Amino acid sequence: MSKKDNILIIGAGLCGSLLALRLAQRGYTVNVYESRPDLRATDISAGRSINLALSDRGLKAMRLAGVENKVKPLCIPMYGRLVHDTEGNTFPSNYSGRDNEYINSISRGDLNGLLLTEADLYDNLTIHFNKKCTGVDIENNIASFYDYKTKEEFTAKGDVIFGTDGAGSSLRKSYYLERKFLFSYSQNYLTHGYKELEIPASAEGKHLISQDYLHIWPRGDYMLIALPNLDGSFTVTLFLSYDEGEYNFNNLTTEEAIKNFFNSKFPDALALIPNIAQEFANNPTGALGTVKCSPWHYKNKNVILGDAAHAIVPFYGQGMNASFEDVTVFDAILEQHEGDWETIFKVYEKTRKADTDAIADLAIDNYYEMRDHVANPIFKEKRAIEMA
Ligand code: FAD
Repeated sequence: MSKKDNILIIGAGLCGSLLALRLAQRGYTVNVYESRPDLRATDISAGRSINLALSDRGLKAMRLAGVENKVKPLCIPMYGRLVHDTEGNTFPSNYSGRDNEYINSISRGDLNGLLLTEADLYDNLTIHFNKKCTGVDIENNIASFYDYKTKEEFTAKGDVIFGTDGAGSSLRKSYYLERKFLFSYSQNYLTHGYKELEIPASAEGKHLISQDYLHIWPRGDYMLIALPNLDGSFTVTLFLSYDEGEYNFNNLTTEEAIKNFFNSKFPDALALIPNIAQEFANNPTGALGTVKCSPWHYKNKNVILGDAAHAIVPFYGQGMNASFEDVTVFDAILEQHEGDWETIFKVYEKTRKADTDAIADLAIDNYYEMRDHVANPIFKEKRAIEMA
């Protein structure tokens, strides 16, 4: 094997763009195929959530790729949580007893765009946008694509193929459909979904509530959180059941019902979201699920990383951080075993799976604790705070 190995990556999201960058830095020839248009040139939401909490694990991966100093100016440190009660009172709740501990709010689009721009600096790396992978012949390492621009189908071959195409991964589907090996797979959805809303900036472009916190309105089996953006706005996320309880996505269908819900449960937030009914109706309701599977690779040919291998629910805010950590761990194993892809893939999964299973289970536990312990309001509130 030589560094001239032709690497094919499916998906240029957070994990795929970082992985591509790192492999290009190591000298491989890398082609990345992404189903969406280039998010730097198009007015599209980069993906599932508008902003995310970036932790030390994620920053470590940025350091590895030499981009930490460019990522940091995009970060807004959140030094703890600010809890909002139903009367509109607030009180801080630190992440731990340690001083100056913080997690960073960052725009998914800005971060993904930065990684793509860094990737563009490498002549041995090419990103092909608007190309959706429709399946992979995992034995011959030939991926099939549909080009949204030309409306044509085509195939591309890689010496090694990486699937970083998120929770609905096409490579993972091919593992399942081709039945060439014993592939264990589970996907479990929660009965809660999420909807994003916005607290706009003030007329002067300032934050209307403190930007130093992750804001949280815990209400037991549902809650609202808000993370600050650099432009002075906040992205607000409502986690709510689809069809259980007094309030749910299925019964909040009229302007009156939406306003009544927010007025009675989140009055201070309602005052900050002028277009609540319109946003609620127009913005999609996203599903939340956990994907577990094994093995993550086929022979010495192809492998899945990031959400493609281990999508988790967002109640610890660690999915992206875990996906970035995948690249850190993978890179260290590649360093040790370069030239032997099958060993690299095996050691990688052996090293990594226990950790990704653990964070998946912790995130689910927090969801169930919050949902099921509805009898005790103090407990309810405590659990919901731990989620955020
Ligand atoms: P993705 O980000 O899903 O990227 C996959 C890429 O592949 C996309 O660009 C997609 O367009 C492309 N693609 C998909 N299918 C194909 C195909 N067939 N062919 C070609 N390209 C394809 N994580 C955190 O660490 N902190 C948080 O605060 C946080 N908050 C979250 C809040 C919510 C509401 C949700 C839903 C998730 C949150 N996460 C958070 C999790 C985080 O979003 C994911 O873990 C992360 O995006 C995974 O990165 P990825 O690159 O593996 O997958």
